[in-house]
Amino acid sequence: MDASVSQATDQFELNADQRAIQEMTQSFAAEEVAPHALDWDREKHFPADVVRRTGPLGFGGIYIGDDVGGSGLGRLDAVLIFEALAAACPGFSSFISIHNMAGWMIDRFGSEEQRQRFLPKLTSMEWLASYCLTEPGAGSDAAALKTRAVKSGGDYVLNGSKQFISGAGDNDIYVTMARTGDDGPKGVSTIVVPKDAPGLSFGPAEHKMGWHMQPTRQVIFEDCKVPAENLLASEGAGFGIAMAGLDGGRLNIAACSLGGAQSALDRALSYTAERQAFGQAINRFQGLQFKLADMETGIQASRMMLYTAAAKLDAKAPDASKWSAMAKRFVTDTCFDVANDALQLHGGYGYLHEYGVEKLVRDLRVHQILEGTNEIMRVIIARHLVGR
Ligand SMILES: Cc1cc2nc3c(=O)[nH]c(=O)nc-3n(C[C@H](O)[C@H](O)[C@H](O)COP(=O)(O)OP(=O)(O)OC[C@H]3O[C@@H](n4cnc5c(N)ncnc54)[C@H](O)[C@@H]3O)c2cc1C
Repeated sequence: MDASVSQATDQFELNADQRAIQEMTQSFAAEEVAPHALDWDREKHFPADVVRRTGPLGFGGIYIGDDVGGSGLGRLDAVLIFEALAAACPGFSSFISIHNMAGWMIDRFGSEEQRQRFLPKLTSMEWLASYCLTEPGAGSDAAALKTRAVKSGGDYVLNGSKQFISGAGDNDIYVTMARTGDDGPKGVSTIVVPKDAPGLSFGPAEHKMGWHMQPTRQVIFEDCKVPAENLLASEGAGFGIAMAGLDGGRLNIAACSLGGAQSALDRALSYTAERQAFGQAINRFQGLQFKLADMETGIQASRMMLYTAAAKLDAKAPDASKWSAMAKRFVTDTCFDVANDALQLHGGYGYLHEYGVEKLVRDLRVHQILEGTNEIMRVIIARHLVGR
């Protein structure tokens, strides 16, 4: 059998530290996540305890400085971690990805006082963080957001609501984009809202297609008071902060798709070697082999593109945003197709929960929608090519 079953990375030179990170994550995922992933999905159980157990492994602040408990790793290292976690459960991996995105925004744009106040508890995962940008009336057009924050004495008073917020209701910290100024992106600010802020509440858990192991709810602000010192950077800087967070977030989500797709291909390779039809294992049919060949090609192309995009972000390359968008678009589309093809290769059994493949299809589907839809990724890429 071919090396594809072992998350091959030989086409991209990883150093010894990166291989060690990859192996450590794979063994955690195999022991602590994979055996429970189907139960969590079926029972819609949020395993906060297992999520928090990744804190001591350094997953609470993967690319946050070590002075506040972070791991001080790079974007490529992070991609390796999310890919390995997602092979066990894409929803679990993406939850940790969003926590890291929100924490990084505080690390990168917060004051020293804010870093010291929030980050040690976020990197240890004593606190979990949400990223609050989307609103009921503003998704792709995020700069049209309406949640307002008005300065009143030593506080900001927030009114409005956020839609589809991952971890809402369970998490401790809400990194929130709110309007402090005029319409458009320049009127947006980023405010860190703690869960116990007066006037903060949450909608009921959404009934979703996938990502069942993590809650998605509305976040509602009704005269919600937050100390003014929770503003990140300055008023008006918030849209840029939100977009900077997404550059890395998009790579992480793509890594979650890649890990899920690799798991789907591995399952398809095992299943088609065992399953008999017309007197032989079904992987003897060339039509089916061609499908496996295309799946492997899609996965390896995704991996090369994603690792290249991550290396560009690490190098602060001027075209890193374009590469993040291209990788997110290509990898999440390709890997969804791979998972869906794996389901097809399992025949009717692929449609059954216990085989694990239909969960991968459901989990990977949302990656084509969130952190900017794949249509918006094309908008970003095209802007880099032809201007606004
Ligand atoms: C499970 C889940 C978890 C989520 N978690 C979070 C979270 O933690 N935090 C957060 O802030 N958000 C989160 N989101 C929200 C997500 O980012 C948005 O759903 C997404 O950005 C799309 O916004 P929308 O749903 O309002 O769709 P719309 O913006 O209304 O888009 C509808 C359709 O129109 C297309 N479209 C819109 N504008 C254009 C254009 N200019 N050109 C071409 N096509 C266009 C879109 O691509 C899409 O196909 C989550 C969503 C889901 C489903």
